[in-house]
Amino acid sequence: MKLLLIMLLFVISCTETNQKLSSNNQIELFNTTSEITIKDFKSHIGFLASDELEGRASGTFGDEMAKDYIKKFFENASLPTKRTVEIQEHYVPAERKWNLKPEDMTVKTYNIIATLPGNDPILKDEYVVIGGHYDGGAATAAQLKKLSGDKIYNNADDNASGTATVLELFEKYASTNSNKRTLVFILFGGEELGLLGSKYYVENPTINLNKVQLMINLDMMGRLTEELLYVGGVTSGEGFKEQLQIHFDKTDMNIDAYSNTPHAEDRRYNRLFQRSDHYNFYKQDIPCIFFFTGIHDDYHRPSDEIDKLNFDGIQKIANLVDSIVIDFTSNSRLKFQEITE
Ligand SMILES: [Zn+2]
Repeated sequence: MKLLLIMLLFVISCTETNQKLSSNNQIELFNTTSEITIKDFKSHIGFLASDELEGRASGTFGDEMAKDYIKKFFENASLPTKRTVEIQEHYVPAERKWNLKPEDMTVKTYNIIATLPGNDPILKDEYVVIGGHYDGGAATAAQLKKLSGDKIYNNADDNASGTATVLELFEKYASTNSNKRTLVFILFGGEELGLLGSKYYVENPTINLNKVQLMINLDMMGRLTEELLYVGGVTSGEGFKEQLQIHFDKTDMNIDAYSNTPHAEDRRYNRLFQRSDHYNFYKQDIPCIFFFTGIHDDYHRPSDEIDKLNFDGIQKIANLVDSIVIDFTSNSRLKFQEITE
C-alpha cells in the first residue's frame, strides 16, 4: 500500500512537471533553423525575456527555467553532431556585495557549457571560447520588484541578446561541424553579481586554459544605434587588431575598436573592458574580444524590453562574430599581450 502511494505520488509529480514545461514556450525550441535568422533570435529572446522568467536573476525560478532552456537547446539543436553539454553549479550571493566572503555565497546558479570538438587532428586540442551571461538584474527578483513596483526587469538587451547569439552560433556550427579548433560555448550565471560565473569557470575550467586561442564575449548586443558597435580588447593579442580589421572592413557598421576604454566621451564607458565576463579570461593571459552596442536609457531598468531591440543589428553583429570565429578557429595561434591603454 505504501509502495502504491509512493508510485501514485511519483506519477502525479511527473504529470505536473510535464504540464509546467508545456505551459511555456519551451516547445518552440526546436523550430529554429541552423541558419542565423531574425526569427530565431526573436524566438530565443521572446522566451528568455518573457515575464515568466522574471528577469533571470541568479537563484530564482526564472534562472532555473533559463538554464533548462539553454541546456535543452545545446543538447538538441542540429543533431546528430557530437557535442558535450555540461552544467557547472556554483553559488553566488543573493545580492551584489563588495568584499565577498564564502558565507555570502548562498544561492545556486549555473554555467552551461557546450563543446563542439574540432575536426583537425592537431588544432582540435586548442579552443575558441564563445560566451555571454544569461542572468539578468543587478539584484534579486524580490529586490527588483521592490525597486520597480510590479514591473519586471526582463533584461532583453542585457543579456538575452547575447545569450541568443551564443545559441544561434552554436546551432550553426553544430550543423556544419566545420571547425578545426574545438569550440566551447559558455553561458554564465552570476555575472550581474560581480562576474562570478566566469570567475568560477576559470577557477574550475573544463578545458586546458593554456590552449585557448581566443575568448569572445557577447554582452548587450541588442541596441545597435547609428551602426555603432563597440569591440573591446583588440590589442590583447599580437597582430590581433590588424587581423580583426579585415573583418571590420567587410561590415557596414562603424566599429569602435578599443583596448580598455572606448573612444566615447561618456564617462560611463571608462574601463569598459574590465566590466564583463571576458575579463576573467583576460586575467588568465587569454586574448579576448568583447562585443557591445552601448549603454542606453533602459539599461538596468524595467524598460529593457524586447520591443526596443534592433534585430537587424543583432544579426549583423552575429554575422561579424561568425566570420571572426571561422578565421580564428583555423588561422595561426594568437599570442597574448597585455593591454596598455
Ligand atoms: Zn550584461
